[in-house]
Amino acid sequence: MSHIFPRHTKQFPPIAVRGEGCYLYDGNGKQYLDASGGAAVSCLGHGDQTIIDAVKTQLDKLAYAHTGFFTTEPAEALADLLIEHAPGSLDRVYLVSGGSEAMEAALKLARQYFVEKGEPQRGRLIARKQSYHGNTLGALSAGGNAWRRAQFGPLLIDMSHIDPCYEYRLKRNDETPQEYGLRAANLLEEEILHIGPENVMAFAAEPVVGATAGALPPAPGYFKRIREICDQYGILLILDEVMCGMGRTGSLFACEQDGVSPDILCIAKGLGAGYQPIGAMLCSREIYETIENGSGFFQHGHTYLGHPTAAAAGVAVVNAMLDRGLIPRVNTQGDKLMAALQAQFGQHPNVGDIRGRGLFQGIELVADRDTKAPFDPSRKVAPKIKKAAFDAGMICYPMSGTIDGQTGDHVLLAPPFIISDDQINELVQKLAGAIEIALQN
Ligand code: PLP
Repeated sequence: MSHIFPRHTKQFPPIAVRGEGCYLYDGNGKQYLDASGGAAVSCLGHGDQTIIDAVKTQLDKLAYAHTGFFTTEPAEALADLLIEHAPGSLDRVYLVSGGSEAMEAALKLARQYFVEKGEPQRGRLIARKQSYHGNTLGALSAGGNAWRRAQFGPLLIDMSHIDPCYEYRLKRNDETPQEYGLRAANLLEEEILHIGPENVMAFAAEPVVGATAGALPPAPGYFKRIREICDQYGILLILDEVMCGMGRTGSLFACEQDGVSPDILCIAKGLGAGYQPIGAMLCSREIYETIENGSGFFQHGHTYLGHPTAAAAGVAVVNAMLDRGLIPRVNTQGDKLMAALQAQFGQHPNVGDIRGRGLFQGIELVADRDTKAPFDPSRKVAPKIKKAAFDAGMICYPMSGTIDGQTGDHVLLAPPFIISDDQINELVQKLAGAIEIALQN
């Protein structure tokens, strides 16, 4: 009998023993195509010898040194590399162990920034419905996914959630995508005015929404308007690129494609590509200098901050992406995946929307394409797709219960950047089979 506490206590998973390229293998030798990189993590695929060697080399030199006493060579190198490529005024890197920690640090830094600026009343965070920013209580309170929040109220942070930018469901027929983008962004201004700008510290959003909305990109101009509003009211823009960052959408940082740069940016997942647990919070020079010239101490920290072995993996991963031309490849393979999904599901009576950027794509399932009515949650369409795909030897990321916290099913796809044309075909065929099985009952 196992002593592991599994995610689902009634569905004990098989034991994964090996990974190679786009495939994972369990103890019985069964092969699984990793169509979601786990949870948009394994961007380089499995068993990449360059990254493995970089980790081993670092382990031989120095596995760990506490940031209370030291900085380390790989942490310095990773911070330099990220800032060299980061957009806008991002200037400092705070290395953590994952996405929730990065968001938690972002929220506390935003809070401390305003306290040190002499505006302690600015404590309110605005985020969006149907978002996910992590599972620790602070990050969870930022997320607008009702299902994940349900059992944990009252949450820690003073929050409000505006509608997401969701063309498929919320754009009116008489609007252009640009008009809708503007209208959706202006909801932020309405909320700020409702709360009182002097009480708001930050707006947090994922540039392309991942797990809770199936690769939902913003409408054109949405984030430009968001940036303007934040600037107008002196509010920090926190972008959560934990899932959509690190090349996943076809640019190193997802927000580059929207022509905006945040005050704080969070990354994780693809930064370590699964070889090590690592995340980072990047902040602007202005924020850093406010702390530097104020208390001089960010009142936060974890034992594994700036972990050298994890940072060494991060350096090797970012260099591999850049040196091997993997980000342009995300765009070419992403176009092929989109074309294959369109060909397979474009006319499917239960596929309402196919969307995404780069190798971050999703499909939304509906009971009726004309009315866009979602399936009744009792049908459990998304969990059934997950199971049928897994049985057929594929890992994908179906989610349900996320459309405005009520109902809805979608599948998120985030395969490794090295996915081949044949593997794209295998992915789409297996997904088609899984959807048919899931819809049968
Ligand atoms: N933010 C986003 C957008 C995520 O998708 C996730 C995880 O899925 C997190 C934060 C939390 O990251 P982690 O699970 O590494 O704590």
